[in-house]
Amino acid sequence: MSKTKLVRNASQASEGLDIKRLYLPGWTLESPCPSCGDLYERDFGNDYLSYPTPGEWLDQTFECECGTEWKVPIRLVLKLEIEKKPK
Ligand SMILES: [Zn+2]
Repeated sequence: MSKTKLVRNASQASEGLDIKRLYLPGWTLESPCPSCGDLYERDFGNDYLSYPTPGEWLDQTFECECGTEWKVPIRLVLKLEIEKKPK
């Protein structure tokens, strides 16, 4: 008897996501300027990730009014599970 299952075919699977604009409402990256300490934030509900590849580091660049520019590497980690709905 066969069971319901989720199958990943590695030879056909793409590492990237075919998502031109990935918005993540509720997720905000906060980072203080390394020079003056002013706090900056990037709201991923408004500022999208373009064609993100899970597991790959993406530099987020900030620029402070004091002239300092810095990068914060982030990455998207996807965990996928398939569950049966409890009866
Ligand atoms: Zn600054």
